Amino acid sequence: MSNRRVLQFEEGNSSMKVLLGGKGANLAEMTNAGLAVPPGFTITTETCQEYYINEQKLPEGLFDEVKDALELIELKKQQFFGDDVNPLLVSVRSGSVTSMPGMMDTILNLGLNDRTVEGLSKQMNNSRFAYDCYRRLIQMFGSVVFEIEMKLFEDIFEETKNSFGVKVDKDLKVEGLKLVINEYKLLIEEKTNKSFPQDVYNQLTLAVEAVFKSWNNQRAVVYRQLYNIPDQQCTAVNIQSMVFGNMGDDSGTGVLFTRNPSTGENSLFGEFLTNAQGEDVVAGIRTPQPIENLKTEMPNVYNDLVKIARQLETRYKDMQDIEFTIEKGQLYVLQTRSGKRTAQAAVKLAVQFVAEGILSKEEAINRIEVEHLEQLLHSTIDPQATLEVIAKGLPASPGSATGHVVFDADVATEWVKHGKKVVLVSHETSPEDIHGVIAAEGVLTTNGGMTSHAAVVARGMGKPCICGCEEIKIDPERKRFYIGNTTIVEGDWITLDGTTGRVINGTVALKEPEISPELLKLLEWADSIKHLKVLTNADTPEDAAKARDFKAEGIGLCRTEHMFMSTERLPVVQEMILAQSLEERHRALDKLLPMQQSDFEGIFEAMHGFPVTIRLLDPPLHEFLPKIEELLEKQFSLKEPEVNEKHEQLIRKVRNLQEVNPMLGQRGCRLGILFPEIYRMQVIAIFRAAVKLIRQKINVIPEVMIPLVGHVNELEIMRKLVDEAAEEVFLEEGLRVNYKVGTMIEVPRAALTADEIAEHADFFSFGTNDLTQMTYGYSRDDAEGKFLSYYLEHKVIPTNPFQVLDTEGVGALIKCAVKKGRAQKTALKTGICGEHGGNKESIFFCHMTGLNYISCSPYRVPMARIAAAQAQLFYKTTSLEYNYNV
Ligand code: PEP
Ligand code: MG
Repeated sequence: MSNRRVLQFEEGNSSMKVLLGGKGANLAEMTNAGLAVPPGFTITTETCQEYYINEQKLPEGLFDEVKDALELIELKKQQFFGDDVNPLLVSVRSGSVTSMPGMMDTILNLGLNDRTVEGLSKQMNNSRFAYDCYRRLIQMFGSVVFEIEMKLFEDIFEETKNSFGVKVDKDLKVEGLKLVINEYKLLIEEKTNKSFPQDVYNQLTLAVEAVFKSWNNQRAVVYRQLYNIPDQQCTAVNIQSMVFGNMGDDSGTGVLFTRNPSTGENSLFGEFLTNAQGEDVVAGIRTPQPIENLKTEMPNVYNDLVKIARQLETRYKDMQDIEFTIEKGQLYVLQTRSGKRTAQAAVKLAVQFVAEGILSKEEAINRIEVEHLEQLLHSTIDPQATLEVIAKGLPASPGSATGHVVFDADVATEWVKHGKKVVLVSHETSPEDIHGVIAAEGVLTTNGGMTSHAAVVARGMGKPCICGCEEIKIDPERKRFYIGNTTIVEGDWITLDGTTGRVINGTVALKEPEISPELLKLLEWADSIKHLKVLTNADTPEDAAKARDFKAEGIGLCRTEHMFMSTERLPVVQEMILAQSLEERHRALDKLLPMQQSDFEGIFEAMHGFPVTIRLLDPPLHEFLPKIEELLEKQFSLKEPEVNEKHEQLIRKVRNLQEVNPMLGQRGCRLGILFPEIYRMQVIAIFRAAVKLIRQKINVIPEVMIPLVGHVNELEIMRKLVDEAAEEVFLEEGLRVNYKVGTMIEVPRAALTADEIAEHADFFSFGTNDLTQMTYGYSRDDAEGKFLSYYLEHKVIPTNPFQVLDTEGVGALIKCAVKKGRAQKTALKTGICGEHGGNKESIFFCHMTGLNYISCSPYRVPMARIAAAQAQLFYKTTSLEYNYNV
């Protein structure tokens, strides 16, 4: 706790943000840098904390300190607070530690009363100006201190203007303003039984207290919740002498960005108004001029601004957003802060600052907000567009898409064939709908969460997807959906914003993504810093090629089931599942084998020289069959007995495969053990593809991955199958290929017995989607739509564990598995391939746990490369226990 409650600007600096708030610390820093900052002082955040501990009473002695500080300002300005002839006016502003723009209160022109207003009028030789300042003070004071609705003041002002036949504020003359002031005072008396204080110290006390109180106004509380700003931080109060930009044509006010915040170009960007106060710029009454005009209007001021811009940028090592006022030709800086910018500008600026020697490469990498990068890799909604948002769901896959609504995957493909763009809207998608997802620009589902089928598939393809949008009610029969009073029918246009989860009525202009040379440079730097390897989850040669464009260092997860879902293959897969005998199944598998082999060839070729981890079949088989409800419905329309008999057979089989808990059922390696011929076919396809490509001089590094292992025996059996099938191919082909066999760790038991499992595994890949599902006991398909959103909203749990890795629970299992696994086998390679591999916080965890790699969807690879470098910079160390290059 500081023993001083009040510090002059000269006494602070930018490292004192916690005590002085962001604004106070910056004003102090600028004052000490010799910039023309109007003199002032800051009441510390600790004083505000004391105020709250003290049951909202101002601490004793505070005002003695404030008065002393005011005296120093009086000396500097040679103006005196409350003086009838030469009055000092001050502004009183909040200033929290973390910027909370517009959330708390400000009062300007404090120090005016019925007498000092006359003094100001004479001093400035401008009575309209003085009375307008007084009017503004009473209005702000009435609203902030006395909490009177702002509209009541505005009504009085409007009525008076009307009675004088005046349209624009500035045309109301002194007589009018005096009337307004009287009415304002009466309003305050009527509402509070108190008068507007004529004692200027009383004004100051009440204003300081009001700023303290505004820390707990509703909007500030909501803002803090949204951005996780601690309630105990409290606000500082900045009291600063006023300067006026409305004192004639040699005065003015403006805002300056030191570089262009939307493009990142290195040129001053901003606007100003002559003879105006700050609010006039915001109110938009007059159109401000571009900053370049200042060069001719006030060349000296312009030159000073250029110098100040460079000085502040170098000092803060960042692009600045500066507020300035010119009072009678003298430039004052009122505020500086890091300027908000677009993603494109953020990347360009980071690279520019390195070229100019302002930032090191490491600092530039740290500057990048990785979430921002998503905007650069997906099409986005034009920020100028007007939007009619009709619903909101989970932002499952980023980017934007616009198209005609369709409710059926077949219709989607049909319409796309005819040159239309479509958005697929459905309760959920299943593997059967994959062709619809491929055809569509984007997907909207009413059910399912961030790891639902639609979400995972869309992310993999880089298509926008919104899931769990329960507000919309689909009527598939009538080909429409309802949302409130709006009905959207098949063929209507909608737009999806997968980055925010917004569903927009109609079509909207989209901005195409671009990978700029600056982003490429940043990524190169990130690669030279990071230790984690960044691999990708890719199931097709196209995705693999895309991921290579983004410099993925291999495939960490190739989900083979996705290869079974195309329109041509699904019937063969169904034939394989429905086979009545082993021979029949083999016949179907023989048809599938060359198809799988050609996929693997394509993928190996795209990943030339990098490992490709292929996971054998994982989902429950019923996912490849039609839904029972649809089959039953169709049954009634079938007349021919033979067709009917076949259909009934199908129904029996589907019923047979149905499970109450399919995600905990016959899937993963359990399938491989029960139907070894399926896994065998896949392994043969993998190695035939590998041999073929090696003969074509392509460097193939295959890794076979067994899913859902929970007991070491499961892996032992499956590994034997893989080794034997591989051996068969090598003998048949007369060529051997180096390969690895590993397992996913996605069942808690596997993590806990990882030492035993490691005996039979060359690598572990943490399937954190299933591992989270099974550790928390939350269904990854239903939780979000049911209780999880409530949990998150009411902070029952802090974050969505399907998006941000639960380091305490799931993370503890991962740490345990890595430790036990490496104790058994030092060279064990470990990585993560669940959706968390594309999340920054989770990447940081993987780095610290000493994993060798993370694997994420192709479009997240650039973001993951930056995050992996940031993790290295943040911890300033790699986990030395582990060898990252296994
Ligand atoms: C996982 O469970 O984390 C995983 C990657 O596998 P899938 O999502 O295909 O179940
Ligand atoms: Mg899994």
